[in-house]
Amino acid sequence: MTTAAWLDVPADHPFGPHHLPYGVFSTAERPEHRVGVRIGDQVLDLAAIAAATGVEWAGAVAGPTLNGLLGAGAQTWAAVRDWLTAALTDPGRVEEVRGHVHDLAAATLHLPIAVADYVDFYASEHHATNVGRIFRPDGEALTPNWKHLPIGYHGRASTVVVSGTEIVRPCGQRRTPADPAPAFGPSTKLDIECELGFVVGGATELGQRVAVEEADEHLFGVAMFNDWSARDIQAWEYVPLGPFLGKSFASSVAAWVTPLAALEHARVPLTDQTPVPLDYLRGPEHTAYGLDLAMEVRLNGEVISRPPYRTMYWSPTQMLAHLTVNGARLSDGDLFASGTVSGPETDQRGSLLELTWNGTEPLTLADGTTRAFLEDGDTVTLTATAPGPDGSVIGLAEVSGTISPAR
Ligand code: CA
Repeated sequence: MTTAAWLDVPADHPFGPHHLPYGVFSTAERPEHRVGVRIGDQVLDLAAIAAATGVEWAGAVAGPTLNGLLGAGAQTWAAVRDWLTAALTDPGRVEEVRGHVHDLAAATLHLPIAVADYVDFYASEHHATNVGRIFRPDGEALTPNWKHLPIGYHGRASTVVVSGTEIVRPCGQRRTPADPAPAFGPSTKLDIECELGFVVGGATELGQRVAVEEADEHLFGVAMFNDWSARDIQAWEYVPLGPFLGKSFASSVAAWVTPLAALEHARVPLTDQTPVPLDYLRGPEHTAYGLDLAMEVRLNGEVISRPPYRTMYWSPTQMLAHLTVNGARLSDGDLFASGTVSGPETDQRGSLLELTWNGTEPLTLADGTTRAFLEDGDTVTLTATAPGPDGSVIGLAEVSGTISPAR
């Protein structure tokens, strides 16, 4: 295993030299936003060291977001990662690197990408089945299209916020079947959705499709993602056009983007896809894959669920192929999320909607309080771990948010 002993990073650290996620940070001395790489509990100022050493891709990491790097394409992504691995593990380069490293605790982290378009999928069969049973108890749990295409919708890019941003309880219209008329007010069913976000680069032209086997060229990395959801607003508004104001008030993304290249050892075969999807969603062998990420949902520090990402039905490459099959173009900084990750077990569900069965079976927390949905002051934190090389573990950076009262 490669080590970065001089940085005091233990070999089993979740942000060890086999991980190297990208983010955007600033410091008190230098408030401008710049691209960094996390190593252990430190941040390498990638923009500064790239400029100082004159590497050919220095311009791609010189901006205030990761978008320049995303636009540089997959060959550059690989070159930068190779350079970083060498720079951080070669004891002969200590002096070159040392002056560009900051303590993570002294850094302020920012939204790592300027989000271009944001799409949210619905790729967990267990989640879709649970939601179908809750909202359509008299019908089929899965809609007739579900196993033929990865269902998704276009969300609101400008309300994607970085981990740590306060989440203001949204207000809106809602009406339960028992209500004689709709009413307006703060959401009473504020919820989470534990998801994985995919960061996209390598822009394409309008009219160009990206095939399943080409998708990895556009998949830069992943980040934990919380699609905050107001279930009461959502339930009243979503028929017939889908999610709208019940979702668009905030979606939180982790501050560190884990390169797909760091998750080589986490790739697993997809679960069985029957019926076989149409050709454009199939791709050659191994081009549609799952990811072995063990996710964790914490409410005020207490683990309330452990969703297993490997149980997802659709591959990220299939989602990207479907997203572009009509000729919709990709932009650098596009972000798509997997949809809520829920496993087959009750303690593997990625939303309170499912964990409390729409509030009918509240959770009892360790402090004796109960939750059907989120209360003001609640903090939700999502994390995940994945297998790395040689028995190591990669820890995806957390996405966290605290609920503040409606305004
Ligand atoms: Ca969602």
